[in-house]
Amino acid sequence: MSGWLSRWRRQRTLERRPIPEPLWQLTLARFPFLAARSADDLQALRDMATLFLAEKEFAGARGLEVSDEMAVAIAAQACLPALKLGLQWFDGFVGIVVHEDAVLARRQHEDDDGVVHAWDEELAGEAMSGGPVMLAWRDVDDAGASAADGYNVVVHEFAHVIDMRGGVTAGLETVDPEGERGVWLNGLADEHELFADAVDREEETFLDPYGAEALEEFFAVAAEAFFVAPAELKGEQPRVYALLQSFFRQDPVAWKS
Ligand SMILES: [Zn+2]
Repeated sequence: MSGWLSRWRRQRTLERRPIPEPLWQLTLARFPFLAARSADDLQALRDMATLFLAEKEFAGARGLEVSDEMAVAIAAQACLPALKLGLQWFDGFVGIVVHEDAVLARRQHEDDDGVVHAWDEELAGEAMSGGPVMLAWRDVDDAGASAADGYNVVVHEFAHVIDMRGGVTAGLETVDPEGERGVWLNGLADEHELFADAVDREEETFLDPYGAEALEEFFAVAAEAFFVAPAELKGEQPRVYALLQSFFRQDPVAWKS
C-alpha cells in the first residue's frame, strides 16, 4: 500500500472504528500496568490498538469465540512494546490464533548417541517468523495478576515478533563490536551469559529461568518484566533495564503505579 493511501485508511479507521470507551476503560482496569501510562501514551496506545484490530485477523482454536473484549485485551498488550517503535514492526504477520488453554506441542531431540527423546512441551504462546502468533487465553486473561511475577505472555510473543522482524538479537558474530548496535547486542549477550550462569547455579532470579535457554528468549523474558514489573527488573538487573529502555525508547519505572 502506498504511503498516503495507508495513512488515509488508518486515519479513517481511527475516526470511524475507535475502540469503544467502555471497552477501553474495562481493559485498563483489568491490566493496571497499562493504566499506569501517561494520558498521551494511553491515547497513542489506544490508537495503535485500534489499527492493530483493523489490520490483524483473530481466530479462535477449536471453536473458541474471540470476543471484542478478548481481542482488545490482546491488541493493547501487544502494542505496548511497539508503542514508540511503530506498528510497522508487526508488518510480517496477520493472524493471531487464540486457544482456550495452554497447548501441548510434541518436541523431539536426538542426542549425541543417536537416542531420540520425545516429550510434550506446554506452550502458553508461540510466535513463528511470518506465521501466526499463538496465545493461550488463560494466560492472557491472568496478565493483571501475573504482572507481579514479571510474567506476560502477550509481551513475550510480540517481543519475539519484533526481534524476528528486526533481527534484534541476531548477528552477534558478525556485528561491529565497536558500533552502536554491536555495543548494545554484546551488552545483552553478556547479561544473558551472567543470567544463564546464575540459573545453572540454581540461584533465585526475578526473571523466568527460561530466559537462560537462548539470547532471543532472554530478550523476550526480560521484555515481559520490563513492561509489567519494571521496578523489580531495574532493581535486580539495572543494565538489562537500561538496554531495553534504549531499544524500546520507553522508561516504564517513570510511570505512575
Ligand atoms: Zn519465547
